[in-house]
Amino acid sequence: VAKNAGRDMARFYAPEMEQIAQQRLALEQHLRQAMALGEFSLHFQPKVNAVSLEVVGVEALMRWDNPELGAVPPARFIPVAEETGLIRPMGAWVLQQACGQLAQWHAQGLDYLGVSVNLSAVQLADTGLVAQVRDCLQAHGIPPEALEIEITESVLMDNTSLAEEQLAALKALGVQLSIDDFGTGYSSLAYLKRFAIDKLKIDQSFVRDMLADPTDLAIIRAIIALGHTLGLQVVAEGVELEQVAAQLKGLACDELQGYYFARPMAAVAFEHWLQERKQQPERRRSYPV
Ligand code: C2E
Ligand code: MG
Ligand code: MG
Ligand code: MG
Repeated sequence: VAKNAGRDMARFYAPEMEQIAQQRLALEQHLRQAMALGEFSLHFQPKVNAVSLEVVGVEALMRWDNPELGAVPPARFIPVAEETGLIRPMGAWVLQQACGQLAQWHAQGLDYLGVSVNLSAVQLADTGLVAQVRDCLQAHGIPPEALEIEITESVLMDNTSLAEEQLAALKALGVQLSIDDFGTGYSSLAYLKRFAIDKLKIDQSFVRDMLADPTDLAIIRAIIALGHTLGLQVVAEGVELEQVAAQLKGLACDELQGYYFARPMAAVAFEHWLQERKQQPERRRSYPV
């Protein structure tokens, strides 16, 4: 029986796997052209101060629209971009676009806004990274502290001396460093000591179920306590419900990000959203639970 099952599985999986490999190849081929064809854009998702509910900044998130493949989610194309090295020019583009957009917003009087970009391990292994960031800040006249760089724990676990040097150099420029998806990686805490981190972003998997799952709530409490003990700001992402936002505020979480406030959106849509929010002070100031 087992033998037959094994044979059936092989027969069933072979064409499936071939199909997956072909899809992956097609994606890679389209991805190689995407930059030149102008298929990338950035969306921006607001982050708010948990107490005042004022918007403090946005996270820049890459979007890819391809005529054949449609809207491809980052979870599908970022890994391919990393494997192929395409993430280098893509990451440089993201940095330029995000800083250019922030400079425009600052010029429009929204000078309290910051922007965060996600940095992949491949980019951190690039010796030109620090100069690239410095030049970008200078070219757009952005104060370094208005730029935040989000890295995941796995980036820190790679732990090459180059990565360590580059993070220290980025920190010396004055940019903010945050650990994304905190709590889901290898969770060695040694890097919190070694790297000059400013913020922890609690992974949304804990936030999503925190009202129903006491373990998730306990983990969130522990991350906030750990962060604050070390003098770090703590951000929660994936906030979808008002009660979750209110509870995180009660737990002294510093910043909140999630669909409850806004989805990631194009720059113009963000400007409109910000305008509307200003005209509705009650929505901005309190949690009407
Ligand atoms: P991330 O950096 O952790 O970004 C947060 C993700 O959670 C975004 O997904 C965002 O749309 C989503 N999100 C935010 N609030 C909520 C919520 O309330 N509920 C739910 N269900 N989701 C929420 P997105 O845009 O699909 O990006 C996925 C991941 O792709 C990002 O996770 C990041 O790791 C990566 N990524 C996106 N843009 C870039 C980029 O420019 N460079 C690099 N290296 N990675 C990127
Ligand atoms: Mg992020
Ligand atoms: Mg995250
Ligand atoms: Mg993520």
